[in-house]
Amino acid sequence: MRSQIENAVVVVTGAGSGIGRAIALHAADAGALLALTDIREDALSRVADEAERRGARCIEKTADVSDFAQVEAFAEHTRDSFGRADIVVNNAGVNVYGAFEETSLEDMRWILGINYWGVVHGCKSFLPLLRRSDRGHIVNISSMAGMIGIPNQTSYSAGKFAVRGFSAGLRAELAASGIGVSTIMPGAIRTPLMSRARSTNQSATDRMAKLMMRFAPPAERVAERVFDAVEKNTAEVCICAESHATRVVQSIAPGLARGALALGFRTTRRRR
Ligand code: NAD
Repeated sequence: MRSQIENAVVVVTGAGSGIGRAIALHAADAGALLALTDIREDALSRVADEAERRGARCIEKTADVSDFAQVEAFAEHTRDSFGRADIVVNNAGVNVYGAFEETSLEDMRWILGINYWGVVHGCKSFLPLLRRSDRGHIVNISSMAGMIGIPNQTSYSAGKFAVRGFSAGLRAELAASGIGVSTIMPGAIRTPLMSRARSTNQSATDRMAKLMMRFAPPAERVAERVFDAVEKNTAEVCICAESHATRVVQSIAPGLARGALALGFRTTRRRR
């Protein structure tokens, strides 16, 4: 059977690192044409070079996804190069760690600008190109934090809940047009996300970053599941045991899920 990725124009934001990099390289190996963006030029070029070494035709353009004009310019570049987009993965993201009372409004606006508005900008700019495809699909990266509010990551959770709600509405709205929308909700994945976080509690952030790099599964696990979701047009995909457990417990006993999280948080605070 012909894979839906072969010869597809796959757009990835935040392609310079972690999950975005893994998605881009997975698509390159499967015979896709790539349109990649990231805010960091060097990291983006390294991934584009790697994709080309693997035989993929690839275009790249730096963009800050929180800036609509920059995302529009990236979409224009994609249209001029490939004429359409088949799969758009809105992946770029950041984290802010620390108690809400100590977190500045500036940092909260910063993270929502990228993690929520970045997804909206990607969908808005690329929908006209997806309408030119016979297999259009949007993949929005949310998180387990889009199912349950995480202490010390209130703005991260807020953005991920927003992405999930936005994506569910968009999926229903676009169903008749044949454009699919999938939301991906990973648990902890081994990437530098936490080590790059803005933080009001650097030692706790460093500890979490270390734990993620040591014990969490690799980003390739997300890449495989993303394209599986596209093939099957799955609405929501949980990745990692903690994400599956959160979904199950949330649906049958939401109080238990919140209680377990609060208890875990109190215990780790006491140990500090
Ligand atoms: P990462 O830091 O490895 O990669 C994020 C990429 O996004 C980086 O290359 C970064 O330069 C880019 N980026 C940051 N701000 C940007 C901006 N304004 N415009 C364009 N690009 C920007 O982190 P990751 O873990 O690969 O994160 C990818 C996505 O996965 C994020 O949306 C994140 O919230 C989500 N996620 C990660 C985990 C995890 O445990 N790592 C879990 C659930 C969800």
